[in-house]
Amino acid sequence: MQNWPLTITAILQHACGVNGDRTVTTADGDSRYRTISYRELGAQAGRLAHALRGLGAERDDRVGTFMWNNTEHLVAYLAVPAMGAVLHTLNIRLSPEQIAYIANEAEDRIIIADASVAGLLAPVLPLLQTVHTVIVVGDGDVSALTGVTVLRADELLSAQPTEYEWPEIDENSAAAMCYTSGTTGNPKGVVYSHRSSYLHALSTCTANALDVSCGDTVLPIVPMFHANAWGLPYAALMAGANLVMPDRFMDGTSLIDLIESQRPTVAGAVPTIWNDVMHCLEKSPGHDISSLRLVACGGSAVPLSLMRTFQERYGVCIQQAWGMTETSPLATVAKPLPGVTEERQWQMRVSQGRPMCGVEVRVVDDEGHPLPNDDVAVGELEIRGPWITGAYYLGRDAEKFDSGWLRTGDVGRIDPQGYVTLTDRAKDVIKSGGEWISSVELENHLIAHPAVLEAAVVGVPDERWQERPLAVVVLHDGALAEPAELREFLADKVVRWWLPERWTFVAQVPRTSVGKYDKKTIRARHADGAYEVVFL
Ligand code: ADP
Repeated sequence: MQNWPLTITAILQHACGVNGDRTVTTADGDSRYRTISYRELGAQAGRLAHALRGLGAERDDRVGTFMWNNTEHLVAYLAVPAMGAVLHTLNIRLSPEQIAYIANEAEDRIIIADASVAGLLAPVLPLLQTVHTVIVVGDGDVSALTGVTVLRADELLSAQPTEYEWPEIDENSAAAMCYTSGTTGNPKGVVYSHRSSYLHALSTCTANALDVSCGDTVLPIVPMFHANAWGLPYAALMAGANLVMPDRFMDGTSLIDLIESQRPTVAGAVPTIWNDVMHCLEKSPGHDISSLRLVACGGSAVPLSLMRTFQERYGVCIQQAWGMTETSPLATVAKPLPGVTEERQWQMRVSQGRPMCGVEVRVVDDEGHPLPNDDVAVGELEIRGPWITGAYYLGRDAEKFDSGWLRTGDVGRIDPQGYVTLTDRAKDVIKSGGEWISSVELENHLIAHPAVLEAAVVGVPDERWQERPLAVVVLHDGALAEPAELREFLADKVVRWWLPERWTFVAQVPRTSVGKYDKKTIRARHADGAYEVVFL
C-alpha cells in the first residue's frame, strides 16, 4: 500500500475540494448569522498561511489563538497546522497569570485574537516573553493591546494570495497543542500530531461514535480551546458536514435561537450548557430543537435526569462520552447495545461508555495490577492508543506514563461488555471509614429532585469517619427544600452510610474555566467557614 501521511492538510484539501460547497455559519448576535463555503474557508486558510509566513512563522513555531468558536478560528485550525506550524488554543477564561504561564511555556510567537476579548488579553501581554505579534479578528477597540505589534486581520489577509503551496508534512509532527484545564493541578501541555488528529477525527465520524456524515450540520458549543472542541471541527470537515458556530453567544436563549434557525443535527457541550438550555425551554415553551439527533455530552458526568428529559420531552438523544485533553479527547462513547431491556439501555447510557476501536482501557489497583472487568472491582482508569498522549509537553509528570499506559486520575469500574463507570476523580474521592463514597453518583441522584438546580458533593474532614460528604446545593428560583427532605429523597437510591449529613445551600456552585464543579475551591471555602452548614 502507498504510505500516505495522515495530516490536517489532507483534511483541508478534502474539505475544500470535494466538500467545497458545504458551509460554516457563525452567530453574530441578535439572530444574525454569516455563512461562507468550505471553498472560501480554504482560500482564507491560504491567506492566513501567507500572512503568518510573512510574519516569520516557521515550522514548529507555536501560533496561539485567543478566540471563540467562529469561522476565523476554524481558518486558523486549518492554516496553522497545514503550513507546518503548531496551533495552540489558549483558554480565554483562565486568569492572566495562568494564560501567560501557558503561552510562555509553549513559547507562542504570534497570537490570533478576537477583538471581543481584547480586554481579557490586554493584562496578559505584559507578562508574555515570546509573543511578538497579535493579529486581531473583527471590529472593536484594541487600544489596550500594547507592547507587541498589533495587526488587523482584515487588512492583513486581504493583501494575501488565496493559494498556498502546502508543504509535505511528517504525520508524526506536531499539529496542535492544548493545556489541561487545571481542575486538579497546574495546567500541562498536550501535543497532538497530525496523525493522531486525523485518526481521532476519522473515528469520531464512525457510527459507533458520533456517526457524522455529509447529511449533518454540526454545532460545537464546547470551546475550540477546550480539547479542540472535542475534535468536532476536524470531524465535520472530514465528513463534509456543515458547521454552525455560536461565537460568544452561548447563553440558553441564544443557543435555542441558533438551533431553531440553523437546525443543527449534532451538537457537543458540557452538561451545564444543556442544563441551561433545558431551563430556558421550560421557562419559555413552544421552541423546537428536534433538528438535533445527537447531542454529545461529557467533561463531567451527565445526569440521568437530563438525558431523560431531553429524550422524553424534546425528542433529543444526549449521548454521553468520556475523554480528557490528554486523549484528544474522545475515548469512550455511551451508545447502548441493542437487544437489552430499556432499563439496561439507560444503565449503558448513564455510564461513561465503551472504548472506541483503537483505544484500550483498564482499571488497576493501588499497585498498578489490572483488575477484572466485572463491574465490581474499582480502581484507577488507565488508557492507551494512537490518539492518547504518551507524555506531557517538556516531560512534566512523567510518572503518569510509567506503565506504558496513561494514568487518568479517574476512578471507576468496567463491566464485562466494556462499559466504563466512573465513580470519581482520584483527587475528589470521599473516603469514609476506609470505604469510598461516589460523589458523582450522589450528585446524579440529587439533581433529579425537582427543586434542585445544581448539586456538588465533596469530602470534608470528619473526626469519626475521616471524611464525610458535604452536599452543596443550588435550588431553582422560588423552590424550597429542606436538607431532611433531600436526604430522604436519596434514601432509597444509595446505601444508607453514603447519605450526607452535612448540607449547605448556595446561590452558585463554583466552576472551573471549562464549566466543571470546582471542588478544590468548594473544599477550601468549607475549610474557611464560608458555608453555613446544616448538620442532620
Ligand atoms: P481537567 O483534567 O483539567 O478537568 P479535561 O477537560 O481534560 O481537563 O478533563 C478531563 C476529565 O474530565 C476526565 O479525567 C474526567 O475526570 C472528566 N470527565 C470527562 N468526561 C466525563 C464524563 N462523561 N463523566 C465523568 N467525568 C468526565
